[in-house]
Amino acid sequence: MTVDVLIVGAGPAGLTAALVLARAGRDVLVLDGGPGRNAPAAHSHNVFTREGASPTELRRIGRTQAESYGARFLEQEAVRAEADEDGVRVQLADGSEMKTRRLLLATGVEDLLPEIPGVAEAWGETVVHCPYCHGFELRERPTAVLDAGEKGVHLSGLLLGWTDHVTLCCGPDRLSGDERQRLTGLGVDIDERPVAALGVEGRDVRTVVFEDDSQIDATAVYIQPDQRPRGPLPDALGLEHTELGHVRVDEFMRTSAPGVSACGDVTSPMQAVQIAASSGFTAAAFLNNDLIDQGRTYTG
Ligand SMILES: Cc1cc2nc3c(=O)[nH]c(=O)nc-3n(C[C@H](O)[C@H](O)[C@H](O)COP(=O)(O)OP(=O)(O)OC[C@H]3O[C@@H](n4cnc5c(N)ncnc54)[C@H](O)[C@@H]3O)c2cc1C
Repeated sequence: MTVDVLIVGAGPAGLTAALVLARAGRDVLVLDGGPGRNAPAAHSHNVFTREGASPTELRRIGRTQAESYGARFLEQEAVRAEADEDGVRVQLADGSEMKTRRLLLATGVEDLLPEIPGVAEAWGETVVHCPYCHGFELRERPTAVLDAGEKGVHLSGLLLGWTDHVTLCCGPDRLSGDERQRLTGLGVDIDERPVAALGVEGRDVRTVVFEDDSQIDATAVYIQPDQRPRGPLPDALGLEHTELGHVRVDEFMRTSAPGVSACGDVTSPMQAVQIAASSGFTAAAFLNNDLIDQGRTYTG
């Protein structure tokens, strides 16, 4: 079986691309390998006309709308892919193989949560990474930032837009004199005791617990997890990466492999539902352009 475009990933990026390509008359198949990155969150914020909708609901609507124009979906994971000038061959988890003229990776990223007890339990609810996604709901709470690096310093200052009570838990001797002075001037508390755990009740964080068993109140905790591209395809295809580890794409969202484009979180540190959807649109438009010599395939 050969399709015009095989899209791997049915999140905001892949679903937007599927809609655009199906409406352009392309034969599109989407592989949906499971929940998206924001599945632990109950709501999606800052989404045009869908403020607060659940991630599951957004995906359901996106899929239904793409299907209404002829996009097809398969609930399967892609496990391998090989690209050459004749197209791309993709192997699925059930052992079957398919061929596609163009492959679009919309596979997202995986957050590598720190191994601090309590983080995983409350992740996406009261232990979060992004003030734009969660700051309003967690506003005015005693808030802790667990991060020793530049990102933690920046985030601590940024959070003062949502709450007056920010403590940066950075561990001992991690801040420069300038950083310390700046944060203190802004009104951020600095706590250098090493963190041992978070005290959580269900999905609600209550405290940050230090190695000496002392603790501070914190009902919102921000972390900046490392991340990596989700799944085996970027490595299997030998795709070039950026310095930050994202799949490198050009202005048309093409990767370093022939016939393979990518969009969404896997391509950029700017990560949000609408940003992913927007890059899915860009990728789809240029893929459609690329396929002009294949003629029109829509038969509906
Ligand atoms: C806890 C949390 C809350 C967030 N809240 C918000 C918010 O409120 N507002 C906002 O704008 N952004 C939010 N984000 C960011 C948002 O989730 C991402 O920017 C967005 O989901 C990226 O879309 P995507 O399509 O690139 O990837 P994803 O949504 O992660 O979708 C990728 C899809 O590809 C599938 N996949 C991966 N590999 C394979 C494979 N090999 N085969 C088949 N399928 C595969 C995955 O299962 C997944 O379904 C949040 C993120 C997190 C972690």
